[in-house]
Order: sequence, then C-alpha cells, then structure tokens
Amino acid sequence: MAFSKQQLIIVGLGISGTFLSWFCHQAGIDFMVIDEERPNVPSRVAAGIINPVTGRRVVKVWLDDQVLPFAEKAYQSIGDFLGINAITKTSVIDFFPNPFMKEPFLKKLSRKEAYIRLLEDDSQFAPYFNYEFGTGVIEPAYIVNMTALLPAWRNFLKTANKLQEEPLDFSAINIIPSGIEYKTIQAATLIFCDGARGAENPYFSLLPFALNKGEAVVIKAPELPSGYLYKKSMLLAPLAEKGLFWAGTNYIWEFDDDLPTKQFRTATEQTLKQWLRVPFTIIDHKAAVRPATVERRPFAGFHPVYKNIGVLNGMGTKGCSLAPYFANQLLRNILYREPLLKEVDIARFRQVLSRPLSGTAE
Ligand SMILES: Cc1cc2nc3c(=O)[nH]c(=O)nc-3n(C[C@H](O)[C@H](O)[C@H](O)COP(=O)(O)OP(=O)(O)OC[C@H]3O[C@@H](n4cnc5c(N)ncnc54)[C@H](O)[C@@H]3O)c2cc1C
Repeated sequence: MAFSKQQLIIVGLGISGTFLSWFCHQAGIDFMVIDEERPNVPSRVAAGIINPVTGRRVVKVWLDDQVLPFAEKAYQSIGDFLGINAITKTSVIDFFPNPFMKEPFLKKLSRKEAYIRLLEDDSQFAPYFNYEFGTGVIEPAYIVNMTALLPAWRNFLKTANKLQEEPLDFSAINIIPSGIEYKTIQAATLIFCDGARGAENPYFSLLPFALNKGEAVVIKAPELPSGYLYKKSMLLAPLAEKGLFWAGTNYIWEFDDDLPTKQFRTATEQTLKQWLRVPFTIIDHKAAVRPATVERRPFAGFHPVYKNIGVLNGMGTKGCSLAPYFANQLLRNILYREPLLKEVDIARFRQVLSRPLSGTAE
C-alpha cells in the first residue's frame, strides 16, 4: 500500500487545530487534518471575544501580556493570508448592574491599573440601553471573526488536500517504530485537538476535564451601534454582518446533550428586553460543550506511554486567546524541543495517564 508520509496528523479543526495546522503551514511542515465537521462545537458557537480582564473583580487574564499580543498578531497574519478580516480591536462597555460591581472597578482605576477607564460622557449609551449605575470601559478587547476564519481555513486545507472530513477511527491507529500509522497515512506524531470529545478519547480521557455547556443567541438589532462589545449580566458582541449581535452566555455543569435549551432562550429574551431600548429579534440559538478543565489551564504535550501521541486541548472559556499561543508553543516543542509552560504540560499528569488505556485504543 502506498502511504502518504506526514510529519503530523492533527485530529480536530476547531480553533486549536486551526492554529496548530496554520503554524505547521507557516513552518513548511507536512501535515494532515482529520475532522468531523459538526455544528454544535464551541469554536462554531463562540462569539470570538478576547477580554483582557475577567470576573467581578476585574482581574487581568492569565498571561495577558504574552497571550494577547501574540493572539492579535497570529489572527492578523492568518487573516492576511486568507484575505479576510480575522480580528478587530474594540472596547467593552461595562454596564455596572449594581453599585457593588462598580466598587472594584473604581478601586482598580484609582490604582491606575491597565485596561480600564471611565467614559467621558456616561450618558452616551442612554438612547440604546437602560442602565442606572454607570459604565466602565475595558480596552483593548478583541473580537475574532470566527464565522469567516474557520470556514476560510477549512476551504484552504480542502483545496490543498490536507483535510479528511470524517470521524477518527481509533481502532485504525497503529503505533509503529517511526511513529503512527493511520489508514494510508504515516506520521511521526499525532496530535488530538478534539475539544470536549477529548474527555472520551481513550488516550486522554483520564485528564481532569470539567466540561460545561454554554449557549448563545444571535439577535438582529439594526439600531444598536456596532463598534463596541457590551457587558452587563451577559455579553453582546457585534458580528461581521451589519445589525447582528451575539448574546450570551451561560455555564451548565450538568447536561444530557449539547442542544440549545428553551430556558436559556426565554431568560435571555427577558434580560435583553429589560436592558435594550432599541428593537431586536432573536434569529438563531446555539449551544456547545466547552473543553474546560478542573485546574482552568489548557492541556498540551505528549502521552507518557504513547510518546508520539499528543494533545492540545482544555481551552475552556478562552480558546480564542489561548489556542494561538499554545499551538505555537506545542509546535516549537515538537520541532526544537523547546519546553512547554509547566502549567499546561501534561507531564504533570504522567501518573494518571500511565494507567492502562480504556476503550478501543488498547
Ligand atoms: C457559548 C460559548 C461561547 C464562547 N465564547 C467564547 C469567546 O467569546 N471567546 C473565547 O475565547 N472562547 C469562547 N468560548 C470557548 C471556546 O469556544 C473554546 O475554548 C474553543 O472553541 C475550543 O476550541 P477547540 O478547537 O479546542 O475545540 P472544539 O471547538 O471543540 O473543536 C474540536 C474539533 O474536533 C473535532 N473532533 C473531535 N473529536 C473528533 C474525532 N474523534 N474525529 C474527528 N474530529 C473530531 C470536532 O468535531 C471539532 O471540529 C465559548 C464557548 C461557548 C460554548
């Protein structure tokens, strides 16, 4: 049988697989992607928001000064290559829902902390929103144009014969002295970028995943200014198509499926009716399971027993910012043996991963 010889097989083409394959392409590495295109995966449901601060206490996100500039450049360069606008720099207008939420913001502001300021005219958004307790501004934030980026890269890979659109058949993986054999492909390395399905992957199911489901609606609100992200008890993010906004989200820890729920739609519609002063209609409703982890840190690196099988996963709620940075780090680890950041390197789970495999991989 004639084998196609590759350096890497990448399983999964969400945002993690997109960046791993993009950096391979840039580095001139031979690779093949295997992906089963399904609608309810987080990379197709996400708003693409990159926010430099997080939570009620307005805390800077993990590794902000490394991850955010890296992400901005990476999206710009893949966008330039594909001829699309992949990322937009913007500001979050943070509507304080009550005086208690305003307090930490003002405290941080008085300490001149990065990324936050107040509006010169706090009534600027009064024609569009109901708000009683004022606003803060968070910047720079970014919106990744996921609805253009993912299909554009997928099409490029298809045209270049670097994508097989099918579910991975685990029973067809053979470990050979030079690496991995999968059907007609031989490769030195196989990397799983399989998102929440990684929790059922026989090689990596023992990693401490903490999957959670999230939902969002798409609304049409033509009178709402589209130059900003808006945040109150939910986020409103402008989409590339004029007048459309993404609204979300929730975090469900116990769920039976990855489908949208009536409960979320009703609650979101109610919240938007109270918040918005302009007309809107809900035109879409989506849901997906986030590949979150117990430690809230990604998983990257190689299996301690099956040394040519690796993983890039566990992006949780922040795949848009973390995936470019750690895809690059993982590829540099493969090519130049540069170390992975300890907090993401799955070497920390060596013991648990060394237990006998479950399922079809044995
Ligand atoms: C409602 C919601 C809103 C979000 N908003 C944001 C946001 O604004 N900003 C942000 O940074 N993050 C956001 N996230 C989180 C973000 O979407 C995830 O962190 C990110 O998409 C994970 O990407 P991934 O490529 O690792 O996995 P996935 O997106 O799950 O992609 C995995 C891919 O692998 C394929 N696959 C899996 N198993 C197999 C197999 N066995 N064979 C073949 N193919 C396989 C899947 O079909 C899929 O295409 C949001 C998530 C949700 C649910």
